[in-house]
Amino acid sequence: MSNIKISVAKGDGIGPEIMDAVLNIFNAAQVPLTYEFIDMGKSFYDKGFSTGMTPEAKESVETNGILFKGPMETPKGKGVKSINVTARKTWSTFANRRHFRSLNGVETVFSKAGIPIDITIVRENIEGTYGGIEHMLTQDVALCRRFITRPGSEEVHRFAFEMARKEGFTQVTCAHKANIMKITDGLFLEVFYEIAKEYPEIEANDIIVDDLAMKLVAKPQNFQVVVLTNLQGDIMSDLCAGLVGGLGFAPSANIGENISIFEAVHGTAPDITGKNIANPTALLLSGLMMLRYLGLMEHAVKIENALLYTLENGVHTGDFGDKNTKNYNTTEFANAIIENLGNEPSNNKARIGKATGNFTLPSKPLTQKVMVTPRQAGMVEQVVGVDLFVESQETADKIAPIFQKHLKPGLKLVMISNRGTQVWPTGSVFTECVDHYRVRIEAEADYKTSQAEMLELSSRIAQDIYITSTEMLRKYGDKIGYSLAQGQ
Ligand code: NAD
Repeated sequence: MSNIKISVAKGDGIGPEIMDAVLNIFNAAQVPLTYEFIDMGKSFYDKGFSTGMTPEAKESVETNGILFKGPMETPKGKGVKSINVTARKTWSTFANRRHFRSLNGVETVFSKAGIPIDITIVRENIEGTYGGIEHMLTQDVALCRRFITRPGSEEVHRFAFEMARKEGFTQVTCAHKANIMKITDGLFLEVFYEIAKEYPEIEANDIIVDDLAMKLVAKPQNFQVVVLTNLQGDIMSDLCAGLVGGLGFAPSANIGENISIFEAVHGTAPDITGKNIANPTALLLSGLMMLRYLGLMEHAVKIENALLYTLENGVHTGDFGDKNTKNYNTTEFANAIIENLGNEPSNNKARIGKATGNFTLPSKPLTQKVMVTPRQAGMVEQVVGVDLFVESQETADKIAPIFQKHLKPGLKLVMISNRGTQVWPTGSVFTECVDHYRVRIEAEADYKTSQAEMLELSSRIAQDIYITSTEMLRKYGDKIGYSLAQGQ
């Protein structure tokens, strides 16, 4: 196997300590990788690089296609985005894969009960609330936009099924909240079952995310691969980390078409930085995911078996294991793994498996990609009205006439809602209102309106009331492209 060049950013806090430990293990196992060390992290924000990385670091990742990174600190204060989230989004690592499994020597309530855990969470990594598109609409009302897209959902679901097929999983579960978020999570779920048809040998099922939280704790052995939207996936994967012993054992891979990022789930651990006591296991497991992704299976298996053997023999850092036995520091822990290269644990040996990725170097010159799925033939898209979001400290019955006086024949005021609950024409006096309303105007069944008419109407209404935003109401064929208010 020829040498593959990867970009390595040691990160902040405990990052350099655990990255050095992992690379020492890789070198002892003669992993055929060349490391290009790059400048990324808090100190580069401090030096004035607003993206937290130097242009050379960006070029290195975009050339090598693989970034192995330690945790990085996001400077506190407004206006600075997390470098970790920015890296995942900028380089389109659309699938975040986290593997949680019971490890010998890492005692949990499940290991004590003899229940083995082996769960892979695939989290959509770009969209959802992590778009970070937020606005203060009034002094009292904040909004976060949550995008779910068909191409984004297709990518992550296809990744989950491809991974399941390659690695011999027999079941993929989609977790969602489509009972409440019928349009956004509804789309995510709809696309899941469309993609599932291409993998008939794999059982596809779905579960509401709160039910998943309960069942993961009660019966974790019932799940193999779970695919979720971004925020729900973030929360559920930390729950899974708790099942197998905590963040010290939670690796993650951010997989994209051209660039992939491998990192531990935990952060920079400022409370233990510089003490050489951090547990490098999560970063090592992330590194093993990277080796498997690159097809370096023999090296991955050899190192993983040495790690499992070491853990099985009770070697541990201070954050886990038997409190009555010696706490190894980071360097000693890595050296113990190095000494055990060639040994195998008595059970739970490393899975050999197939290469998990289709790694190819990013092809140059790179061109920006616009992802659009084929349009449905013959589908008529039609504007049927508008939702006007407005600021007002009045009650809905005082607001309604302001709109009605601007409506031409063919257009009607359908409802007014506050925080998603209808308050006009009917509602309850017990519904508490804030100073931000949604006012829905629709065209009568026999009247054809247009985007231009709705915008022109909005600008006339804006002379009387402050409009914070507008959203066109559209129909896609027979399908209504907007939700109804609670109580409508
Ligand atoms: P954290 O994960 O750094 O620490 C939480 C607790 O877990 C601490 O008590 C810490 O000592 C312990 N811990 C974490 N990793 C450990 C390890 N390898 N060995 C032993 N103990 C470990 O979370 P935090 O304190 O919320 O965040 C600190 C910083 O890390 C913040 O700036 C945050 O933005 C950043 N962060 C970065 C990433 C990333 O780079 N992907 C992820 C999460 C948080």
